[in-house]
Amino acid sequence: MCDAPVLVIGGGPAGVAAAVSLAESDHRVVLVEQRDRLGGAIHRQPANRDIVHSLHGRHHTRNWRALNERLSAVQGKIRILYNSVFLGADDTGHALIEDRALGRTLSAKAAGLLVAVGAIEHIEPFEGWQLPGVMTAGGAQLMLKETGRFVPGRTLVVGSGPLIFAVAAQLASAGAPPVALVERGTPWRAPGAAFRLLASRSTFAETMRYGSIILRKRIPYKTGTGIVRAEASGSVLLVEVTSDTGRIARYEVDNLVISNGLRSNQIGLPRTSESSVYPILHAGDCREILGADAAIEDGAFAARKLVALLKGAPTPSPSHELEKARKLQAALRKLTSLDHSELVGDPIICRCEGMKRSDLLKLGNGRSAFETRLVGRFGTGPCQGRFCRASVNRITGISAEELSGRNHQEQRWPLRPVSIASLCSVTPFQTEFEQEPILLQPANAVSSKR
Ligand SMILES: Cc1cc2nc3c(=O)[nH]c(=O)nc-3n(C[C@H](O)[C@H](O)[C@H](O)COP(=O)(O)OP(=O)(O)OC[C@H]3O[C@@H](n4cnc5c(N)ncnc54)[C@H](O)[C@@H]3O)c2cc1C
Repeated sequence: MCDAPVLVIGGGPAGVAAAVSLAESDHRVVLVEQRDRLGGAIHRQPANRDIVHSLHGRHHTRNWRALNERLSAVQGKIRILYNSVFLGADDTGHALIEDRALGRTLSAKAAGLLVAVGAIEHIEPFEGWQLPGVMTAGGAQLMLKETGRFVPGRTLVVGSGPLIFAVAAQLASAGAPPVALVERGTPWRAPGAAFRLLASRSTFAETMRYGSIILRKRIPYKTGTGIVRAEASGSVLLVEVTSDTGRIARYEVDNLVISNGLRSNQIGLPRTSESSVYPILHAGDCREILGADAAIEDGAFAARKLVALLKGAPTPSPSHELEKARKLQAALRKLTSLDHSELVGDPIICRCEGMKRSDLLKLGNGRSAFETRLVGRFGTGPCQGRFCRASVNRITGISAEELSGRNHQEQRWPLRPVSIASLCSVTPFQTEFEQEPILLQPANAVSSKR
């Protein structure tokens, strides 16, 4: 067995697949997960054992169960740090991890680093997206998966991309059918792309399943229609949407669920390196949005590549499955107009600092990324530009990398806000493995019953 452990960040499908594959290749692994369970975005675990959900396709449940079985088979080679947030790593293998349970920061030295921290949700700003009652599709899913319930009242689901379709069906299955599903794209105008879905049996089956729930529950499905604004009126939200043909519709609702798809997330991550001394690789959704099945494939591929780099052996080629997933994602983007965007009015762009589009324009033309951050305060809040960077780019042309400071520093520590008290108590991390058994999923985590 190799001596120094490999650090894998993220306990979603990609991170777990990578950790398991590394352990099966006789590497010791430290798997770091910020939450108290594994599962990532798709297999978010219920808050207690009484809650059982089956929100996603059955093949996802089967895949996750298989991954868990492989994980139990390599106990002793993987140590899982829960409630622990990866803060960054330097080029020589030193990483900082905040142990949130004990309020201290651990410093670890690893043989290699594999980062699988998942995607970020993309939201096109509109006036009112910061109001109480507005939440992202991911937030709505999180509530459903953790509690099995949703906020009472009338809910409107608006945006673009496959996630809103899934969430509308999932809300309906949980007894909270939305008053309407409003999609900016017009899927039937891209029959070629729709045909491509047939190439993936599991995606096609999942789409059909969601579609049949939406039909059965008679949820009105408007396409070619985008949101204009939302405003608060007493305790309700007034939401205005407009179609491609200029038809305006207004909804009075209690909850507004929004999403414009997912984006890869490399903000602040250590750059990838194929050095044999200290390889750094990214995998899963944070590298490229390819879906949950491909995230498992990508995690395993990154693990094989890392093993080869550590040995100084030739690196493997990516599997054919990843290329298939890429084509499928391109078709989904085409079907749901994920690449199209338009800003109306003067919406808040940076929710961390409450800065609007007009604040950005007031900075004037020709401002550098540095000035936009320091003078305009865009990209400097706790989310570090994860939410505003796409809009800043659209309005000013400043790229996401420039806004996140990549042109000025190689990496951006810490990746997440950390208290000074925690940083002041940096403790070297002991990597003994056999002392602690790994904590597997609770029994209901892989149930497929509702
Ligand atoms: C909101 C949302 C909803 C989705 N819904 C569906 C769906 O309904 N159906 C479907 O098929 N696919 C869905 N997907 C896509 C699917 O979840 C992903 O393709 C898949 O989970 C990607 O796996 P991953 O391991 O790359 O990332 P993730 O599953 O996102 O896992 C990343 C893990 O890293 C952890 N992490 C992040 N940052 C840190 C840090 N600094 N330190 C320590 N840990 C960290 C996170 O807590 C998480 O557990 C959804 C994705 C998102 C984001």
